[in-house]
Amino acid sequence: MVKDQKFYDALGVSPDATEAQLKTAYKKGALKYHPDKNKNNDDAAEKFKEMSHAYEILSDPEKRSIYDQYGEEGLEGGGMGGGMGAEDLFAQFFGGGGGAFGGMFGGGGAREQGPKKARTIHHVHKVNLEDIYRGKVSKLALQKSVICPGCDGRGGKEGAVKSCTGCSGSGMKTMMRQMGPMIQRFQTVCPDCNGEGEIVRDKDRCKRCNGKKTVVERKVLHVHVDKGVRNGHKIDFRGEGDQMPGGLPGDVVFEIEQKPHPRFQRKGDDLFYHVDVDLLTALGGGSFSVEHLDDRWITVNIAPGEVITPGAIKVIKGQGMPSFRHHDYGNLYVQFDVKFPQKDQLQNLNLLEQVLPPRLEQTKAPADAMVEDFELEDVDGSEGSQQRAQNAAHAMDEDDEDVPPGAERVQCASQ
Ligand SMILES: [Zn+2]
Ligand SMILES: [Zn+2]
Repeated sequence: MVKDQKFYDALGVSPDATEAQLKTAYKKGALKYHPDKNKNNDDAAEKFKEMSHAYEILSDPEKRSIYDQYGEEGLEGGGMGGGMGAEDLFAQFFGGGGGAFGGMFGGGGAREQGPKKARTIHHVHKVNLEDIYRGKVSKLALQKSVICPGCDGRGGKEGAVKSCTGCSGSGMKTMMRQMGPMIQRFQTVCPDCNGEGEIVRDKDRCKRCNGKKTVVERKVLHVHVDKGVRNGHKIDFRGEGDQMPGGLPGDVVFEIEQKPHPRFQRKGDDLFYHVDVDLLTALGGGSFSVEHLDDRWITVNIAPGEVITPGAIKVIKGQGMPSFRHHDYGNLYVQFDVKFPQKDQLQNLNLLEQVLPPRLEQTKAPADAMVEDFELEDVDGSEGSQQRAQNAAHAMDEDDEDVPPGAERVQCASQ
């Protein structure tokens, strides 16, 4: 039996509560009675202080045992003044005062003692690359809660909505329960008002909102997708979100998400385009056409003798994306793949001698060496030998590279 159970009562737990139960009780109560949620409610503020103090004592095993044996008098500076402030405890528990509330109640700009604010509506707006290239205005409809125009957000006829007497408007009620020799007090949702804190007679209830104080309305917002806007860019509509009685309206935030494009890849303001050319075009020149993002087609000429090597990247300046807000243009990079002819497609190979530069000097066996002749064969299709060949080739690649691991990624990120 404990000497005094005031602190347990403050948290709504029994004196044999575990540490976990204390913690849960404090967490629930602190969120419910925090001054941010109970503007101009002195009772709630008092309750918040009381339970913070109680938790501070009871969560410390040493202090708890002193309290259990000797009561509040046993604790040094046992009154409300000592120890950590209620707000500090709250901040420690939830990781930083108002910020914690911002996240928890979706209040965005909610600050300590600041006005309540309805949650922010987040929406991802998917846009294709053509629209980002040209810019556009998207009309987006959203459903939001607005203060009921039928009752001005009161929920019923003027004067008909009364604060609940059962719970003094707090929505929570303290109940008693006999637990063996002890009487346990605990908090529960007020049964008179279902936790609303208010009571209105059925006949006085607003017909339009059914007493809910808000109604759902469809609203169309004009979202400006500016030329060159980046993926992940956020567009804020302050105060265009849900309305709530006695609080600030919430915000609406649209986040631009760029859809993948079938032809182009975008990196910053630059575009990347992949094209396959045959060996004849790579060496002898030719052209190909690209459908751009604004209905234009651009024809790209490869000069004869340009010699496009497999994997080569060339640039067409100024044909990338418009930059956000400045509207100068990035570049269009063309990544080439060269398709070599198939084995049996070549004729008059001797003519190549007239076109191509002379052969590389190869290592020759000395004149007096024993020489055997071999022909090349294809690596056969069986899994084992394919795998061996690939592993061998891979090992050679690695030996050749001096580039430290990750260097390529760094380069990509800085482009
Ligand atoms: Zn109404
Ligand atoms: Zn009530």
